[in-house]
Amino acid sequence: MSKRGNLFVVSGFSGSGKGTVMKQLCKNEQYALSISCTSRAPRDGETNGKEYYFISHEEFVKRQAEGYFLESAIYVNKGYGTPLGFVEENLAAGKDVILEIEMQGALQVKKTYPDTILIFITPPSAAELRRRLTARGTETKELIEKRLKRAVEEGVYMDQYDYIIVNDDLDVCVKELDALMQSTHHAVKFN
Ligand code: 5GP
Repeated sequence: MSKRGNLFVVSGFSGSGKGTVMKQLCKNEQYALSISCTSRAPRDGETNGKEYYFISHEEFVKRQAEGYFLESAIYVNKGYGTPLGFVEENLAAGKDVILEIEMQGALQVKKTYPDTILIFITPPSAAELRRRLTARGTETKELIEKRLKRAVEEGVYMDQYDYIIVNDDLDVCVKELDALMQSTHHAVKFN
């Protein structure tokens, strides 16, 4: 039987560039990136089953009640949840599973799986965060303000994370994350 994989949560402010970082990182087949369910509408260029499973609000609530999710949270009025089955299957198969989720969910996961390694990706400054969110052009002005407000709220809890990585340069950030994740396979835990 293969050794059980490690579970990682990667969070970051909306606009931190973590989506792009994850895409690069998960070219390595050792990593299994979980695809969440969400009740928000797909953005231009997003496909059902690729970035997310897009489901209705009613379906989201039903799945929550059935225990389909390992964790779930409301983010800017929309539901997001991690399917439990995918996580369990891949950990059992020896893969390192990555959940790209926000903070409330991250803390729920840590409670269920105390060995989870929590990593936070941040842009180099607040001004850069605003610039990236605006340049992405996927959100209205009002939603950008809501997401920036949420970032300020989340910042307070950053100290709950095991590691913080600054995403100033995509390639450097991917390399740092990869090295960090690989290093956990050689670490010995004493307690
Ligand atoms: P977005 O709408 O920009 O794709 O995602 C909004 C936020 O929800 C991001 O911080 C993202 O990491 C987070 N998120 C995505 N999927 C999940 C999930 O399954 N659970 C939780 N708790 N957060 C999620």
